[in-house]
Amino acid sequence: MRDGICKYFPDCGFYKLFSAEVDRKDKVTIFHQYINIYCFGILQRNCYRLIKKEAGEPVADDITPTGIKYSAGAE
Ligand code: SF4
Repeated sequence: MRDGICKYFPDCGFYKLFSAEVDRKDKVTIFHQYINIYCFGILQRNCYRLIKKEAGEPVADDITPTGIKYSAGAE
């Protein structure tokens, strides 16, 4: 169910770390898809980062909403 933008978005370490990707207008990256589908989209409640945050468990900034390590250069 879509709830609008994630309440953690302004302070989300994953977004902050890789947000320069958003400025890459020449291509749609996997990062863009994570933001669209999780932060703004239908799988927001399934976000690994959100679930861990609400459980009070720290998550490294380079861990994606699916729970895997992300590297922008690997796309
Ligand atoms: S990555 Fe997860 S916790 Fe961070 S803003 Fe997106 S949905 Fe929220």
